[in-house]
Amino acid sequence: MLDLPSIPPIGRFAPSPTGELHLGSLTTALASYCHIKSLGGKWLLRIEDTDTARCSTQFSEQIIMDLEMLGMLWDGDIVYQSERVDIYNDYLSSSLKPLTYGCQCSRKTLEHYWQEQISLKEQASQNDNFDANDKLHYRQRYPRCCITANLTRDQHKLRLQLPNYAIGFRDGIQGMQWANPQQVLGDMVARRQNGMINYILAASIDDGLQGVTHIMRGLDILPMTSAQISILNAANLPAIEQWYHLPLICHADGQKLSKQNLAQPIDTRNPSALITLALQLLKQQPVDVDTPDRMLKQAIAQWDNAALHGQQHIALPLHTDRTS
Ligand code: GLU
Repeated sequence: MLDLPSIPPIGRFAPSPTGELHLGSLTTALASYCHIKSLGGKWLLRIEDTDTARCSTQFSEQIIMDLEMLGMLWDGDIVYQSERVDIYNDYLSSSLKPLTYGCQCSRKTLEHYWQEQISLKEQASQNDNFDANDKLHYRQRYPRCCITANLTRDQHKLRLQLPNYAIGFRDGIQGMQWANPQQVLGDMVARRQNGMINYILAASIDDGLQGVTHIMRGLDILPMTSAQISILNAANLPAIEQWYHLPLICHADGQKLSKQNLAQPIDTRNPSALITLALQLLKQQPVDVDTPDRMLKQAIAQWDNAALHGQQHIALPLHTDRTS
């Protein structure tokens, strides 16, 4: 038998610094850390700050400090996407180029088009159910008005044609998934007119270039995964071996914890209590209260994804939920 050198699996935490860590993002960080370490792998830290209008260094510095306080130390150097824009543009003008085209449709033009289409559909379907989901479906697909217009690439937004077939992948937490990237995202805007790179494009290229093998992240990003698989493939980058989409942490009223609805930032002055709570939310065996690094060591040794299988939401315990 061939004796191949064993390559350690590689995982990552990839926060967008549009706010501080909250219990939802902390559980994502902790789960991806413990899981990849339990496999003997490396855990990378990538700051996804391509959206310069919404991201700030103040938040990225706070995120890094919080991770340090919690003893979750990353392997290698931190990667900042804001410093890698040339790399994403290189892909857009090489391997991805045949799939891209310039587009001048404004949001307003598209809104108008979609509204017209929806009215036509509603008239045609009369009493049939044409509900909010159908409307959403119509909205997401760009009607490809500019595909043959040959517009200059640099002076317009650049769209990327995503494939129109179902892509399947086995999710280690949510089970088998199928999605058609064209139906989910249409021809996605890969680069805005102001040069801003789409985050799923940047994430795909970086995951490929950084050799990431295991992606564990929040369930809110699962709808993007079929697009990510097709981008990696089109860019000739290695495929991700294992996907895991974690249940979302919710308030007692069912609302997802997020920066948009002002989830409270974590307070790392008592890191042991935070690790205990995050492990409880992740349905792991409790660990002895100790220093963060000893607690993490025990959490890694005990790590088990099985407790999360099929779970989509996890409610905060009442005493920690400010909305309760
Ligand atoms: N940057 C994304 C976020 O903070 C995560 C992207 C990913 O993990 O692929 O929500």
